[in-house]
Parts: sequence; structure tokens; C-alpha cells
Amino acid sequence: MAPWAMLHKDSGGRLYHQQPHEHRTCFQRDRDRIIHSKAFRRLGYKTQVFMNSAGDNYRTRLTHSLEVAQVARSAAQALNLNADYAEALALAHDLGHTPFGHAGQEALNHLMRDHGGFEHNRQSLRIVSSLETRYLEFHGLNLTRSTLKGMMKHAQVYECDPDLRPICQQRSQEQPGLEAALVDQCDRIAYVHHDLEDGLDARILNLDDLRGLDFWRTAWQDVLEQNPHTFQKVRSQVQIRSVIRYLMDHCIRDLQDTSSQNLRNLAIQNQADLKALKKSDYPVGYTSLMGERIRVMQDFLYQRLYRFPAVMQMSRRGARIIETLFGEYASLPALMPSHFQIRIAAFGLERVIADYISGMTDRFALHEYSRLTGHRML
Ligand code: MG
Repeated sequence: MAPWAMLHKDSGGRLYHQQPHEHRTCFQRDRDRIIHSKAFRRLGYKTQVFMNSAGDNYRTRLTHSLEVAQVARSAAQALNLNADYAEALALAHDLGHTPFGHAGQEALNHLMRDHGGFEHNRQSLRIVSSLETRYLEFHGLNLTRSTLKGMMKHAQVYECDPDLRPICQQRSQEQPGLEAALVDQCDRIAYVHHDLEDGLDARILNLDDLRGLDFWRTAWQDVLEQNPHTFQKVRSQVQIRSVIRYLMDHCIRDLQDTSSQNLRNLAIQNQADLKALKKSDYPVGYTSLMGERIRVMQDFLYQRLYRFPAVMQMSRRGARIIETLFGEYASLPALMPSHFQIRIAAFGLERVIADYISGMTDRFALHEYSRLTGHRML
């Protein structure tokens, strides 16, 4: 590993002291704890863009997290960084998401506006530090301080999580490790390419729309020229997947090469050099051409996919379900399971409701909505 990688000896230890494992490094152990958590399994039934019930081939938060982990792991290896650490951060990065995607988060944030708000990154930290209960000695997963710090994307935690505050304080005074910044970009790379693919599969996006974009036409032509005998013979879905894979590969290579060049230009020698950098000088990034291409893709997805009427309709229904559930639990907390009710004294009613609702899968929230209202949604 490079001297500026996150080294195991710099993990910062755990809040509750535990003996090191004889066969696994601390970050492998963090990764394994995340994989074995209930919150991680529930990601399989949470909306990425399309609701879990919309079709079996669309991405869910679980498959998205696995894809981010794969990209992050190989990018970290290419840059001689700590791939285990990057993998743990990638697998944990979406744990705090509500059901029904971003619409769910917005609805819950609005409902929590007088009680500290709701934001999925902060919720991920709450899950791994207190909501998961599977160990005898401590609440949460007792991850290393470095993993917690790496998960603090915006250097913020909830007021009601005092244990996390010293780590957050530290995080706010220094740049994140390269692995954390890399995972952030791998998340972006994974979702722009995969949302494009899912949107095409759902026939919300079509090839004519994409042909209007320079980068798509060029990539299509490149793949055709590299495979003159096969490309025209396969069905369009295979052509699309080949072009998207080509685009994604270029994007990852650009990220690796540009970041590596930046590290050389900045003459980074060790972790301390990195932490002292200004935010604008941070070495993880793309060439300006690739940065622009990603922005064009994000704009296109925003205009054509995320705001598509059927997708918006799904989001609005999700938001309504969350509003209704919140109102029901607020007026009668006994409707929540007892292991949530007992947390009210420590965290307040609203925070406990937000914890309970945000942990739900799409289908459980739908089921709960029917149970409490007697109506069926969708
Ligand atoms: Mg993500």
C-alpha cells in the first residue's frame, strides 16, 4: 500500500475496546459486520430509482451498494490504497436510506424539521453506532473510528448521538482519507451509468434521446469500430450494455489516472500531507472533460428519468405513505414495536419514529400503511 493509504495501524481503534482478530484485519472485520447487519439485508428491498416491486432486474439499494463496493475496491487497488477500507465504506454508504428513495428522505426530513431533521448519511452512522443490536457487549456494530469518520460525508451527526461527536469534530478539521473520497466518486460513477441502463430497460429513456448526446454517439461508434463483426448482430440490449460498460470503464480509468497524477503533482508523501490539503486541492478527481461528461449525464438523468411522471408519481406515493405512518405513530406510539418504544425516553418520540420508518423496506412500509389505515396503496 502507498504511504498515504489508510493503514490498519491508523484505524483509531473502536469505541468499545476489542481484541484484534487473529485472521482478519480491522477493516475486513468492519466490512464483515456491515454485511451481516440487518440494515444491509434490508437494502435489497429499498428503492434506488424504481420501486422494488417494479421489476426483478432493476437495481435496488443493495445491488447498487455491491456495485459501488466492486468499483471502489478495484479503483483503490489500482491506486495502492486500502481496498478493504474502501469496500467497508462503500457497503455502508447507503445504509441510512429511507424506503421510496430520495422522496422518502425529503418527506422524513420535512416531518423532522423541528427535531433535528433527517439525512441518510447521519442515519447510516446512527445505524452502525446504535440501532443495530446483535452483540452482547455493545450497541451498534462497534466499527473502527476510521470507518466511522470515513462515513461522515458531510462531517455531521445528529445532536442525539454524543458518542460520535468527538470523531465528527476531528473529521471536520481534516480532509477525508483518499479511500472515502474515492468511494464517493465510485458511488457517482455507479449510479449515473446504472440509472441510465435501468431507465433504458424500463423504456422511459430511449436510444433516440441518447443519440442527441455527443459522448453517447462517440462511445457507440468506438464500440462498433472495436467489434465490427459482432456489434451489429446482437440485440439492442446487448449493444446498450456494451456501450454503458465502455463509458463506465473510461470513467473509472479517468478517475484513477487523474487522481494518481494529482498525487504526483502535489508531491504527497504521507497521510499528514493529505489531511493538510485545502478542499479545492484534493487529489481525487477527473479530467475536466470527464467531469463535464458526468455532469451532462446527471442533468440528462434528472430531466428525463428522475422527473419522469411515472417515477414522480411513485415518489409522491412513497412520500404520502411516510407522512401517514409518521402521523399514526406520533398519535399512538404503542403502534411501534416495543424495542422502539423503549428508546423514546432517551431519544425523543420523533427521532424514534424517524429511526423506525427510515429502517423500513418499501414493501414493509406499504404493508404497515395498509395495516394502520385499512387502505391499500399501489
Ligand atoms: Mg449511493
